Amino acid sequence: MRVDHIAIAVNNVESALTNYQNILKIDKIEMEEVPTEKVRVAMLMLEDTRIELLEPMSEDSPISKFLKQRGEGIHHIAITADNIEEDVDRAVKNGMKFLGDLRTGSYGRKITFIHPKSLNGVLTEFCQAPPQG
Ligand code: ZN
Repeated sequence: MRVDHIAIAVNNVESALTNYQNILKIDKIEMEEVPTEKVRVAMLMLEDTRIELLEPMSEDSPISKFLKQRGEGIHHIAITADNIEEDVDRAVKNGMKFLGDLRTGSYGRKITFIHPKSLNGVLTEFCQAPPQG
């Protein structure tokens, strides 16, 4: 397993991106809107992981709620492996509570989230990229 990305809730994706570009050498950045999660995303591709900047697209976005309650900061970490169904299964068997079922997120990846109350206060995403074609 490895860290697929670290997601940070921000008020404005462009200004956050400028901050990160001031401190990191980033070759590749991908911008995306994910209507299902109601967020605008900037993906900063690092060598072996990514930083995901999340700006809410609407007031009822989960990111809006997070920003109101806690301000900008780390929103979740995402773990990836080869068999997400197996990972979810193991977690459920060990009593972990999930936020929603396994679903399709950005880039056609399968995603789901473990509730922070189940995991030491950290919202944790499981994700898996579709097979490369
Ligand atoms: Zn994520």
